[in-house]
Amino acid sequence: MNRQALIAPCGMNCGICLAYLRSKNRCGGCRNENEHKSVHCDKCVIKNCGFFKTTNSIFCYDCDHFPCARLKQLDKRYQLKYHMSMIENLQMIKQSGQESFVQTESIRWKCMKCGGVLCVHRAYCLKCEEEKKLVQKSAH
Ligand code: SF4
Ligand code: SF4
Ligand SMILES: [Zn+2]
Repeated sequence: MNRQALIAPCGMNCGICLAYLRSKNRCGGCRNENEHKSVHCDKCVIKNCGFFKTTNSIFCYDCDHFPCARLKQLDKRYQLKYHMSMIENLQMIKQSGQESFVQTESIRWKCMKCGGVLCVHRAYCLKCEEEKKLVQKSAH
């Protein structure tokens, strides 16, 4: 699967989502139609936003309303609960491109013990259960 396709329009990296990383009934990510996608994600107002029907753009940062209230709300929830910011992700993608972002993410979310992919929604590695310690991002 194209890893870049795992970055949702809101900036969420579906590759670190519990629904993508779990072994059963895996979700294939926001941009891939699949039966195991959560109802919440399927009905997501960001993914289904009218802006994407009027443009070739695939990310919110090109929208005149960016960051809109809905995106800010999602971002705030993730910052508080999971120490991750979709808006920051989008700014990085805009600045350096998707490929570079995916590269940075693969380092940021790598388990230091087993090398597995860390899940944003869990405080421990799903593979080896080591406590999650995130690599600090370099200042941009
Ligand atoms: S559940 Fe949502 S956030 Fe998680 S992988 Fe699927 S589309 Fe992405
Ligand atoms: S930032 Fe723009 S494209 Fe993204 S959800 Fe908000 S209104 Fe839609
Ligand atoms: Zn691990």
